[in-house]
Amino acid sequence: MVVAPRADAPDLDEIRKCVHCGICLPQCPTYRVLGEEMDSPRGRIYLMRAAAEGRVGLTENFQRHLDLCLGCRACETACPSGVRFGSLLEATRAQLRRAGPPAKHRLLQAFAFAIFPEPSRLGAALTVFKLYRRSGLRALVRATGALRLFPRLAAMDALVDDVPAAAPLPEFVAARGRVRGRVGLLTGCVQRHLYPGVNRDTARLLSLAGFEVVIPREQGCCGALELHAGRADAARARARALAAAFPDDLDFVVTNAAGCGATMKEYGHQSAALAGFAGRVRDVTELLAGADLPLGPLELTVTYHDACHLAHGQRVRQEPRLLLRRIPGLRLVELAESDLCCGSAGVYNLLEPGMARELLDRKVARIVETGARVVAAANPGCLLQIAWGCRQRGLDVTLVHPVELLARAADAYQG
Ligand code: SF4
Ligand code: SF4
Repeated sequence: MVVAPRADAPDLDEIRKCVHCGICLPQCPTYRVLGEEMDSPRGRIYLMRAAAEGRVGLTENFQRHLDLCLGCRACETACPSGVRFGSLLEATRAQLRRAGPPAKHRLLQAFAFAIFPEPSRLGAALTVFKLYRRSGLRALVRATGALRLFPRLAAMDALVDDVPAAAPLPEFVAARGRVRGRVGLLTGCVQRHLYPGVNRDTARLLSLAGFEVVIPREQGCCGALELHAGRADAARARARALAAAFPDDLDFVVTNAAGCGATMKEYGHQSAALAGFAGRVRDVTELLAGADLPLGPLELTVTYHDACHLAHGQRVRQEPRLLLRRIPGLRLVELAESDLCCGSAGVYNLLEPGMARELLDRKVARIVETGARVVAAANPGCLLQIAWGCRQRGLDVTLVHPVELLARAADAYQG
């Protein structure tokens, strides 16, 4: 029996806060799909407690129930006892990792962690992908049907439709009008390469809102992917390096990627020395909601998907909706189950394509019900995942970050 290591052990007091009421169960995506107690938050907490008290070992079965968890934190929103499930999951995954990585995912994980948190390597890999796509090789590979034998590779291939050209952002953008403050902008790993327009629009809107924007060129990854996978030491090193890349005189550090923002706001859990930095982190919609932006009309029907790490991780739900409703002519239609995970969850869609697919199909079906042709979501993973789901259904639906709509509305402003 493999016993849980003591290092990075989940906090037993936090585990004991669970009173087994079951209120979180209907909010948990994996419980909704599988209907199994051990694939619910309560069941997983039970397993964590049993391992922490030495009553069960870190068996394959134990690992499977933890692997299937999306880390979406919908259970935290639902929980009346305030159990911080995300932290318990991170600690348990760190223990599993110390006890030995899962053989099944070893290669794919090694690939993912060598590429995704390294912006320069990710950029190089995406350049190769661009050639693969534009040379016609991708069409050829797809025509052979060979990818069907490698479902995880197929998921990776399908997820990214194209790679846009990305011009580097300036290191400083001056405020327009009266200066309200000075902020730093996180450019992210996936965001800077696959959605460079979102970073450009974010900087422009912050400037219009009266903020000086500092964009350090040497900033790296926030460490979210590693933290969620139980690579606690690597995540701590990333957090320290990222905080050091930003100057000390900033009022806020702004993110436009929900997963990064949730992790950075909780840097204080990883190291007390980073608590001050963490306290200055804001999602871009939190800052813009308090600003008086000049917005012209957009005649669009839009629906909004709550990214898990914005709604459940950061409790930011109203600000993006409020901003979208301020755009003249824009009709915002509410999406049923808007805060149910779309199946993206970092690299979950590559590691667990079956469950990710179930959740994506459900999300796309809800989108179809709204009749909206534009879906806004504030996280690059959700944008990629939902766009893929819509392409597969042959839907004429465009995925955008809320700041892209705000920037278009600012362009349409006539004064
Ligand atoms: S984090 Fe999400 S998938 Fe995991 S137990 Fe909580 S609600 Fe379920
Ligand atoms: S809602 Fe909270 S206290 Fe109730 S079972 Fe879920 S985690 Fe435990």
